[in-house]
Amino acid sequence: MAEALQIVADERALDREQRARLHTAFLDEWNTWTNWRGDTFDLPGSWKADIDQLLRAGLRIDDLIELVDVAMAVKAKDTWKYFCGCCWRRLKQDVDCAAEIVSRAALSEEKLVTIWTNSQIAEHVQSSETYAGGLLGDDSISSAYCPHRQWGEGDCGDPVCQIERSEALSWMADSMNRKRKRDEAIMNELDELESADA
Ligand SMILES: [Zn+2]
Repeated sequence: MAEALQIVADERALDREQRARLHTAFLDEWNTWTNWRGDTFDLPGSWKADIDQLLRAGLRIDDLIELVDVAMAVKAKDTWKYFCGCCWRRLKQDVDCAAEIVSRAALSEEKLVTIWTNSQIAEHVQSSETYAGGLLGDDSISSAYCPHRQWGEGDCGDPVCQIERSEALSWMADSMNRKRKRDEAIMNELDELESADA
């Protein structure tokens, strides 16, 4: 417990040190600018808290330093207020950019739209299953399962999974069907040969 408290205290001290460094970096930049009388520009009493807030909102110290120069170059009546406005505008642009990235990602994740109706899918799946059931053993039927299910469990009910599974069943049933026909043809030929011999 004492150890945990010490860790929290250390972290807080580190945080305080870090913030103090950032405040100094900001102030150094701010004070490089002076008015025609050689005075530095006024900062409100809340400036450290305001800087902390901007940093927490997502700006980096490099942004702040850059925007100090932007704000100073504009001869605003209240340089601090103008500077804060620049910061919030940049944050908003960042947010807009982030929103655009998210919406572009969402597009590639968009759900499918298909011309298949649910009853067409059901019909297709039903006929494949009937076809496969007449030709395949339990093992082959069990071997057709979707990525969301285990061996022998079929499909999860998602239309894509249903179609994919029914195609696998049809494909296996087709090859079984061809093999049976070939075997039958061979048997018939053998029968014919035998009866010709007789
Ligand atoms: Zn599935």
